[in-house]
Amino acid sequence: MAGNRYVYDFDEPSSGGKELLGGKGAGLAEMTQLGVPVPAGFTITTDACRAFMAAHDIPDGLEEEVAEHIARLEERSGKRFGDVNDPLLVSVRSGAAVSMPGMMDSILNLGLNDQAVAGLARSTGNDRFAYDSYRRLLQMFGEVVDGIDGHRFERRLSDVKQGKGVQQDSDLEADDLRALVDAFKTIYEDETGRGFPQDPREQLTRAVRAVFESWDNPRAQVYRRAHEIPDDLGTAVNVVQMVFGNKGESSGTGVCFTRDPSTGEQGHYGEFLANAQGEDVVAGIRTPQPVETMKDQLPEAFEQLLETMVRLERHYRDMQDIEFTVEDGKLFLLQTRSAKRTAAAALKAAVSMTDEGLITREEAVARIDPGALDQLLHPMIDPSAQLEVAAKGLNASPGAACGRIVLDADSAEERAKAGENVILVRWETTPDDIHGMIAAQGILTVHGGMTSHAAVVARGMGKPCVAGADGVSIDTDAGTVTLGGRKLDEGDTITIDGGTGRVFVGAVELVPPQINEDFETVLGWADDFRRLKVRANVDTPEDAAKAREFGAQGIGLCRTEHMFFGEDRLPVVQEMIMADDEQGRRAALERLLPMQQSDFEGIFEAMAGLPVTIRLLDPPLHEFLPDESQARDDKMRQRIRALREANPMLGTRGCRLGLMFPEIYEMQVRAIVRGARAVQERNGEAPLVEIMHPLVGFEEELRRLRELTVRVAEEEAPGLPYLCGTMIELPRACVRADEIAEHADFFSFGTNDLTQTALGFSRDDAEGKFLTYYLEHDVLDRNPFETLDLAGVGELMQLAVERGRSVKADLKLGICGEHGGEAKSVAFCHDLGLDYVSCSPYRVPLARLAAAQAALAESGAAQYVTAGG
Ligand code: ADP
Ligand code: MG
Ligand code: MG
Repeated sequence: MAGNRYVYDFDEPSSGGKELLGGKGAGLAEMTQLGVPVPAGFTITTDACRAFMAAHDIPDGLEEEVAEHIARLEERSGKRFGDVNDPLLVSVRSGAAVSMPGMMDSILNLGLNDQAVAGLARSTGNDRFAYDSYRRLLQMFGEVVDGIDGHRFERRLSDVKQGKGVQQDSDLEADDLRALVDAFKTIYEDETGRGFPQDPREQLTRAVRAVFESWDNPRAQVYRRAHEIPDDLGTAVNVVQMVFGNKGESSGTGVCFTRDPSTGEQGHYGEFLANAQGEDVVAGIRTPQPVETMKDQLPEAFEQLLETMVRLERHYRDMQDIEFTVEDGKLFLLQTRSAKRTAAAALKAAVSMTDEGLITREEAVARIDPGALDQLLHPMIDPSAQLEVAAKGLNASPGAACGRIVLDADSAEERAKAGENVILVRWETTPDDIHGMIAAQGILTVHGGMTSHAAVVARGMGKPCVAGADGVSIDTDAGTVTLGGRKLDEGDTITIDGGTGRVFVGAVELVPPQINEDFETVLGWADDFRRLKVRANVDTPEDAAKAREFGAQGIGLCRTEHMFFGEDRLPVVQEMIMADDEQGRRAALERLLPMQQSDFEGIFEAMAGLPVTIRLLDPPLHEFLPDESQARDDKMRQRIRALREANPMLGTRGCRLGLMFPEIYEMQVRAIVRGARAVQERNGEAPLVEIMHPLVGFEEELRRLRELTVRVAEEEAPGLPYLCGTMIELPRACVRADEIAEHADFFSFGTNDLTQTALGFSRDDAEGKFLTYYLEHDVLDRNPFETLDLAGVGELMQLAVERGRSVKADLKLGICGEHGGEAKSVAFCHDLGLDYVSCSPYRVPLARLAAAQAALAESGAAQYVTAGG
């Protein structure tokens, strides 16, 4: 057996940590070695589980090793396994390195059999307790090891309670429980064709095997896939001497947090249930009491519990979630782990632990899950509310919203103007629904994924959205919506929670966003640590102001498309497109110029002192014309036909349009530099303007457009400082980045299009279609439109950075795709050495934090780890 050790007692040092002992086992060993009261026991390592998986059998030597450790446990406790007078009882508990629901449930009271139960009754003088313990073992073993449907046992239990006319299992007496034991044994025999195993060693072996096998059950596999937990970690098995909370009123079991897991406030938050065992507290069998009630009933145990919590928190330097049992007034700890918490609690706890000197600022920053910050920037559903979920969809854009159902964008706008709160409910949304989305409090769609139009636009607006709720059906003709079987009319109130994907009928109480002092404090620290700058993608002065509030250091992408839409502009734009010659086009553009100039001035004012990257017109011209059937005349119809493209995404758009119709870009450049000059004259300081040409793939494209830009700028505003650069969104641009850099002051990676063009995925055609299939069938692990495809797109970016900087060392580099607000992608941009990331305003705080974590990880100061164990 030498070298191949599989079992460690809790009081034996091992250097394997969580990976070897699992979270639960490592915690039990650590607590034992700290001198915290923990029942004796041992851990069978994850090595043993891996060996089991490889051989599909219990590895050689394991049974002997377990027998030795049982013998040691017998010696220490003075009780023997299977003893007919005073038996040793144990629990068998699974525990992987990361906490993982979906695996095997624990088995308690293992070691009882028909004779030992009588011995236990005699030695404790407590028949009720002995038979209560045995019926629990029969049920847990039957369910977990033999896969018997738990309802069979539950039904029997409630029959007995009904027969006695009592509500609670604690009201049953010894004789009732004895009868229940007989009934449970019959169920066991009936289901398995065998009697309940009477040999404790056989019980133990079968339980250990069941834990190992549960590692690969479908529930566990699904959970691992969803949380990116490797399949080959394996689980440990903990064998723990039983302590009994079900011995009477001076016994009980409870769970407790060292700080409030929903607010992070200091104090002890927990529940306790007298005369109970194991999961009774959380299973809702009886209503547990606040843990303070122990103060009067079990003062000594309570005192010790408080002391122990302080000790554990100091030792682990983190908020703990513990399980404990009191047996005849004596306290035992059964588990400790870092507590799951809301984002608000995470921030509060991080700040106060820093103040208490428990952790450093670096650790405080590294500990916050950037994704969870989203929760704080939107109204939320009160986490303590008990609610009935009517339907569920994807958690497409966080925040909760409540309002009346409207089924089309126009009514959304009308009703919102009239002062009503509305939720826009659609099969899916299109660009035509934008005004309705702006007017609505939230958006609910039946169809579409995390990157459907509704989801992307809602996230950009920071508006709650539940997408792809296929339990919802819409009847537009009847004006009704059916939600999980309930028919509602347009105008009825619903509530959506975009952070969880839940939909509720009626109005649900919301709590306001929590941008509080803790939030500001932690993000302030993050700003001290990060190297990457964070900008926002915004198109309007209002959004620019919001972005500044969230800490944006500039605009990384100001799209100019919307400056061509709108009641007053679209007719002029159409006139421009319909014009017969350049002169006609110029005349129309001349009228657009002052409007766009005033748009730019507004944005420059809002971003005074910070850089603003403006992208010139990108979409193809036909997008500004109506559908052919709605053409005003033959000429328009012909023009629409002439502009029609088989594949507009790869058609006459971006700089191609700018080269064919230079007067459009000339007008835009003129509006930009005139606006900048005007602001400079008003404020005495010139805005930091960056003019960006989209969709460049060839050096010659940018050379010509730079010439155009410089010429117009010199003409209009000689001496005005500005930069001229390009968006990098084609693979060819990455490959030829050195040539393109000759004509660029900056590159900004447009990773939405770069992903589409590098992968050959049209996003609109991918989502909800083959990409969904790919994700469901594991062809791909992640949606490349959400998290950068590092191996493909990331490599192209790296090439562009290297080649670009090889000719221009000070080339300014940024990213303005949606990826700029996703934590993993931000970390990648840090590693690439970009100067900034840019994302939608609501994601700016997340990006600030992720950028700081990337810098801390690089310097080795602190690493973000998910709470678990
Ligand atoms: P889970 O991972 O689901 O929390 P646990 O292994 O922690 O499962 O155990 C389930 C319940 O049984 C918990 O309430 C735990 O405190 C309790 N328990 C486990 N082992 C023992 C034991 N030896 N004595 C008393 N209670 C135990
Ligand atoms: Mg537990
Ligand atoms: Mg693009």
